Amino acid sequence: MGRLPPNSINLNVRGLSQSATIAINDRSNALRAEGRTIFKLGLGQSPFPVPRPVVEALRANAHQKDYLPVKGLPQLRQAIAAHYSELAKVERTAEDVMIGPGSKELMFLLQLVFYGDLVIPSPSWVSYAPQAQIIGRRVRYVQTHRDDGWCLRADRFAELFGEDPERPTLVILNYPNNPTGYTYELDELKQLASVAREHGVLLLSDEIYGQLHHQGAHQSIAQFYPEGTIISSGLSKWCGAGGWRLGTFIFPAELRWLLDAMAVAASETFTSTAAPIQWAAVAAYQPDPEIKTYLTNSRRILRALGRWLAGRLRQVGVLCADPDGAFYAFVDFSNLRPQLALRGVTDSASLCNLLLDQAGVAMLPGADFGRPPEELTLRLAYVDFEGQQALDAVEALDPDAELSEAFLRQYCGRVLEAIDRVADWVERG
Ligand code: PMP
Repeated sequence: MGRLPPNSINLNVRGLSQSATIAINDRSNALRAEGRTIFKLGLGQSPFPVPRPVVEALRANAHQKDYLPVKGLPQLRQAIAAHYSELAKVERTAEDVMIGPGSKELMFLLQLVFYGDLVIPSPSWVSYAPQAQIIGRRVRYVQTHRDDGWCLRADRFAELFGEDPERPTLVILNYPNNPTGYTYELDELKQLASVAREHGVLLLSDEIYGQLHHQGAHQSIAQFYPEGTIISSGLSKWCGAGGWRLGTFIFPAELRWLLDAMAVAASETFTSTAAPIQWAAVAAYQPDPEIKTYLTNSRRILRALGRWLAGRLRQVGVLCADPDGAFYAFVDFSNLRPQLALRGVTDSASLCNLLLDQAGVAMLPGADFGRPPEELTLRLAYVDFEGQQALDAVEALDPDAELSEAFLRQYCGRVLEAIDRVADWVERG
């Protein structure tokens, strides 16, 4: 291999580094290996186990060995269509569903087969823009503001189409949101849908955290723009099965041409998603009371934890409203800029590095999500706890009671300790 020049790498990929979340995880592991106590609030992985009926279904299907159809196992496509028709209030059939090895891979294929600009709000999840860059698409960020919960406002969205209203555009909206933990009100979704329809945009509604809305009140924009919206989801977050790699796209019949084009690209790349995983996933989409309880209890823990930590950080002057869903908080240290500057903080990256080195807490800088580098925002993922133990403990409580701080200290102690450390670090300055 010595003859290959070291720079024989596709120009679109050259200069890109590994996904930021993976890098912070590696760095935290290295510090832990040196004997340091590190609190991992960097990587956004569900703390909860895969629900028992789904694990059992995987066990029962370990023998499934055949390649499956490229769009997915028919029984699973059927189960997903039924599930989302109810959840998202749209009529969808098995033919509208495509299964892939993670929604991330499906998004990549979508960006590959659809020819247009990518529009995403800032902040956004870390992989949308690099995928566009690898494929060679233009990325356009739309600014958001903390006072709007970092949500895209319909008037800002509309301004985008000023110069070239007909330009083919893929817009990705993600709610409940990674990195912010916030979601949209029904009215906001209606307004955004009407702008999307007016300009004929392709809308990818990334609802991978939909089932982790803390009140169980997630609403899909697909109900207001059914003909142009693809719903993206999968098992990774609500079902705690990120490593199983199963993602789902649900198309309207009007976009069947796009689904078919993606299936062509899929057939030449990953062929189909792992058979045992697809068979097992059928169980995840059944109306099973055990799965319902699992979800109710997961939401209850995340809601209490999100509220507690946002409140604790507000006490020391960090700006952070209570999250609405998922397991993230996007916190803003801007009000503390003068005192932090004395400690060498100039931007979100230096803030993150100091917090890792001095407080032992790993988080991700806002810059990784498309925010201006000098803005002092960070994302924290409140997942550093034993999900199974917390679920078991919640089960024994009165279903209507708010989870107390004592409960959170006992079962999510590492998260509380990490946040206390951040708060102490701020106050020490
Ligand atoms: N969208 C968002 C907003 C995410 O946070 C993630 C996972 N971190 C994904 C999509 C991709 O998930 P998966 O590929 O596991 O389906």
